[in-house]
Amino acid sequence: MFLSGKRALVTGSTSGIGLAVARALHAEGADIILNGFGEADDIAKLTAELSASHSGADLTDAGAIAGMMEEAGPVDILVNNAGMQHVAPVEDFPPEQWDKIIALNLTAAFHTTRHAVPAMKEAGWGRIINTASAHSLTASPFKSAYNASKHGIAGFTKTIALELAQTGVTANCISPGYVWTPLIEGQIPDTMKARGLTREEVINDVLLAKQPTKKFVQPEEVGALAVFLCRPETGNVTGANWSIDGGWTAE
Ligand code: NAD
Repeated sequence: MFLSGKRALVTGSTSGIGLAVARALHAEGADIILNGFGEADDIAKLTAELSASHSGADLTDAGAIAGMMEEAGPVDILVNNAGMQHVAPVEDFPPEQWDKIIALNLTAAFHTTRHAVPAMKEAGWGRIINTASAHSLTASPFKSAYNASKHGIAGFTKTIALELAQTGVTANCISPGYVWTPLIEGQIPDTMKARGLTREEVINDVLLAKQPTKKFVQPEEVGALAVFLCRPETGNVTGANWSIDGGWTAE
């Protein structure tokens, strides 16, 4: 349990990829702080399962992020994972959805990072792992805000990796292809509408069409990659963007 004694804050960890990352870090001994929305009963089950604490902070709100970080205290591992999607042609894209996506997928990571970095520097060790996306490297139509936010977080990650290069703190992105989570399920109806397709056509001809393996990535596979990036042997891995996308971005 090489992460015993380390404290990990994983944003957006009441569901999907973040929950799998929290479980994987917990399995290596890390103390977990969960964040995200959900039913109180479901969150109580998760905090019990992972002996974790939970912050329900809305990460589109800088003040709520400051409160969460103050409550959390120093963290050794920061996983900026919370994210959302909206699918629509640019001329119909609701400006309030644009603002929310940029706030959650990009600006929130800036705020958590700026709060977390001083203690990591002082400790001489830290891991910042940002869940980007294949859409940090390439684009798909109708996802203007999402693609902009994910390209943005990739650039942000490189920048902090350089700033922190001599401090023992690494910063990397994980860039999944399509992972079967509520986020993906939720975008199927809008994609059907935007492209005039059936549900099956969206799954096979839009989503899995991108992935040469023809398989969805599993959340647990992303969790394993996050654990790898925390290992002592990866101290020189920084500023990288790790694809886990079934070969999507190799094409
Ligand atoms: P998900 O919908 O299953 O989980 C999202 C999490 O974020 C939940 O815990 C939710 O409560 C939380 N959340 C949502 N809005 C929030 C807010 N305002 N403040 C705080 N927490 C909030 O989604 P997921 O698929 O697990 O996605 C997690 C991350 O992975 C996102 O950044 C997403 O862009 C990225 N990603 C997902 C896929 C995929 O195929 N699922 C692919 C590439 C990247």
